[in-house]
Amino acid sequence: MKRHLKIDEIPDNPYLLLTPGPLSTSKGVKNVMLQDWCTWDKDYNTIVQNIRKKLVQLATNTEGYTSVLMQGSGTFSVESVVTSAVPRDGKLLVLANGAYGLRIATIAQRCGVPYQLSNSGEVEIPEPGHISRILDEDPSITHVAMVHCETTTGMLNPIETVGEIVKDHNRIYIVDAMSSFGGIPMDMESIGADYLVSSANKCIQGVPGFGFVIAKQNVLEETKGRAGSLSLDLYDQWQTMEQHSGKWRFTSPTHTVRAFAHALEELESEGGVAKRYERYSTNHDLLIQGMEALGFVPLLPKMYRSPIITSFYSPNHPEYQFKRFYGELKKSGFVIYPGKVTNLDTFRIGNIGEIYPEDITRLTKAVKSAMYWK
Ligand SMILES: *Cc1c(COP(=O)(O)O)cnc(C)c1O
Repeated sequence: MKRHLKIDEIPDNPYLLLTPGPLSTSKGVKNVMLQDWCTWDKDYNTIVQNIRKKLVQLATNTEGYTSVLMQGSGTFSVESVVTSAVPRDGKLLVLANGAYGLRIATIAQRCGVPYQLSNSGEVEIPEPGHISRILDEDPSITHVAMVHCETTTGMLNPIETVGEIVKDHNRIYIVDAMSSFGGIPMDMESIGADYLVSSANKCIQGVPGFGFVIAKQNVLEETKGRAGSLSLDLYDQWQTMEQHSGKWRFTSPTHTVRAFAHALEELESEGGVAKRYERYSTNHDLLIQGMEALGFVPLLPKMYRSPIITSFYSPNHPEYQFKRFYGELKKSGFVIYPGKVTNLDTFRIGNIGEIYPEDITRLTKAVKSAMYWK
């Protein structure tokens, strides 16, 4: 019988992913996935506990925080927090300015969690005075949720300013830092965040399969029995991990977890979040420079942009089609992302993952050659 491919027969990736996750990962991250793991063995559980500890350290230097890993894509972790944290007699205020903010509201609606949506539109940030007023006027609001980097546009939301308002009003604060955690320096304590959510396949540069929640422990402790879901019960998942030293309640994505542990080591050897932020920022600056020189216009003004992902207006030319442009770039080794803004024609290019400034320089050359409508 013929065996499956041997390792040295596996071809390299044919293109770089300039996408907000899954993203291009290093050879090292892919390589450690070659071992199979037993979920109740100490070797594996030690890896899990190490990850949990490191995540808390990445989130804050302050004591009193803990972390929980949750199976599924990032949305599963957001859903886990929304449905486990907000009591049925509480109410969640969702501050949205893009698809991911709106998704939090959709989760609340589908799962019967009382909520109120404040939508500031895709190219505007929520107005602090407005948030203050909502919280002043509605004492039934117990929780506030906001996205940090709104991946729809690449908008970086002012989570610290909003956190101050939320804390002044004594409410619980949930931050979806999915696409920014590990890529932009942040401190949960100074943000005032009680829950911070992210996933394996974004700025930590792992592969997809699980998300994670870093939570203020005394806040999490109060949520026992609140969850409206079994598999997404954040409290129960946390308790099992705590009491059984890194055990997950149900089958965990073992290869993904091992890859993530390696990705965290690579983050450390790169010089930590500050250095990674520098690399992403350089990528972003080069991208803007190169694309503007070719006549492309970024969607957002400079002060709103993040180094994570950048939206550009589609060229205003009758022959331009995203599909064809995408195909040309893919042939030269780059995969970009379609736009997600509702009423405007855009496309997006991600700067995160195993992507370096020289890749962006090569990209802008490839873009120049892919402009078939010129
Ligand atoms: C990626 C992302 C998510 C989660 O998306 P999944 O497809 O479920 O992984 C949530 N919020 C933001 C801001 C994201 O960028």
